[in-house]
Amino acid sequence: MTRVVVRGFDYGCWKCQQATTCIVAVHADGSRLSDDWLWFEDKHVLNLARDLLRRTGKTSLADSIKERFSKTAGSAYLSNGCQHCDAIQGDWPLGRAVSDYAQATPLGELPVLATMAVADAAWHAVAARQGMRRCGYPMTWAELD
Ligand SMILES: [Zn+2]
Repeated sequence: MTRVVVRGFDYGCWKCQQATTCIVAVHADGSRLSDDWLWFEDKHVLNLARDLLRRTGKTSLADSIKERFSKTAGSAYLSNGCQHCDAIQGDWPLGRAVSDYAQATPLGELPVLATMAVADAAWHAVAARQGMRRCGYPMTWAELD
């Protein structure tokens, strides 16, 4: 089994302006390497995060992850949503906000939403398909602790 950590990001909803939590990354517990962090733009990652949140009883967080239509993308995709008004929190602005955050703050300070043991096979199935991890985030990994 691999202990997997789900990380959130405190975000301001663009629509209702209230504070909401987006689900942005999963990684093996204790991992310090950027290569081991998997990001929400990969929908297999977001799907796994939703599953782990459900299984740890974080139902409202889990339910905020769902398919929503994006005008920007012109289609629906598995997305973060506002916990107050359910508005889609689009991948692009959210990714940029995380990137900006990471310029100044170690990623290890992102809030832990859930930690749960996952079967190795299930974890590797998600980790191995990473083709888009990091998405070019200019992060300072040396400070991650
Ligand atoms: Zn909102």
